[in-house]
Amino acid sequence: MKRIGVFTSGGDAPGMNAAIRAVVRAGIFYNKEIIGIYRGYEGMIEGDFVPMEVRSVSNILQRGGTILKSARSKEFLTAEGRTKAYEQLKKHNIDGLICIGGDGSFTGLHNLYKEHNIPCVCIPGTIDNDIPGTDYTIGYDTATNTAVNAIDKIRDTALSHNRLFFIEVMGRDSGYIAINSGIAGGAVAVIIPEEETSIDELIEKLNATGTQNKTSSLVIVAEGGKSGSAMEIAQRVKEKFSYFDTKVTILGHLQRGGTPTYFDRVLASKMGVAAIEGLDAGQTDVMVGIVHQQVIFNKFEEIMSQPKDIRKDDLRIAKILSI
Ligand code: ATP
Repeated sequence: MKRIGVFTSGGDAPGMNAAIRAVVRAGIFYNKEIIGIYRGYEGMIEGDFVPMEVRSVSNILQRGGTILKSARSKEFLTAEGRTKAYEQLKKHNIDGLICIGGDGSFTGLHNLYKEHNIPCVCIPGTIDNDIPGTDYTIGYDTATNTAVNAIDKIRDTALSHNRLFFIEVMGRDSGYIAINSGIAGGAVAVIIPEEETSIDELIEKLNATGTQNKTSSLVIVAEGGKSGSAMEIAQRVKEKFSYFDTKVTILGHLQRGGTPTYFDRVLASKMGVAAIEGLDAGQTDVMVGIVHQQVIFNKFEEIMSQPKDIRKDDLRIAKILSI
């Protein structure tokens, strides 16, 4: 393998730049040519390619976002779109691919591999931490730290006015950001997609802590929760529970940006090097993971056949500490 294409795809995540840098530098270290593909599968279909040098990735380690840009491509969902992408890769003599993205991006890569047999490795980059086969995905740690910083600030105002705040965090169908920002931010309750929480249960909890002279209460709501959005939950609670002045804050996209934490930079650096070394050693149709500090390569089928469950112990700890 001589020329490897690297791209970022799906939702952007802090630390993607650190992963691009690691892929480029490790690739060059092992005498490969590295080609950057702009805008994920969209740019692959259009042939939006750029050769990457050691200095193309200077000064990006500490920057959020992705210098290669990210995109969602409808055309790549079709076999015709993937054939167009493959033709572009062939035209540019690209004989290996490294994708940095979430499970959707990995599915796209797998389909391209099945149809056109191009060797490929995926690096899990998503703030949601919703992919099995790795303890953490790139961006999750930074996003959770951002959420915790925001929660701390909201607590100051909640304390000053005896307010009940509902804070909505990202994570799509995964409660990882919610449960851990809830533990770190001292939430009275955390509502996550993996667990049913009825409004009555929540009110009971708020009543119980209210009678224990709690002067401010923060409820963390994961965006993909089955009980509704933070706005809807707050509305329903307010109807039954008028003691507190109820407010809602949706943290939204600020969780995607910002300087990646040391943890995400190191994770991205390790995964980038592992992706190059894995591809060189014949790994294909796999996702790099780090489990118990060991690099592993997960086959596509293994990843897709298991859900990434929330750690039950995290839930237990959040409950114990929120009395
Ligand atoms: P995040 O978890 O951060 O949203 P993601 O990689 O899961 O990231 P998606 O929007 O699901 O984000 O996928 C990114 C892109 O991957 C899609 O726009 C599409 O081009 C491609 N893709 C997703 N699923 C498939 C599929 N089944 N077949 C081919 N391509 C796919």
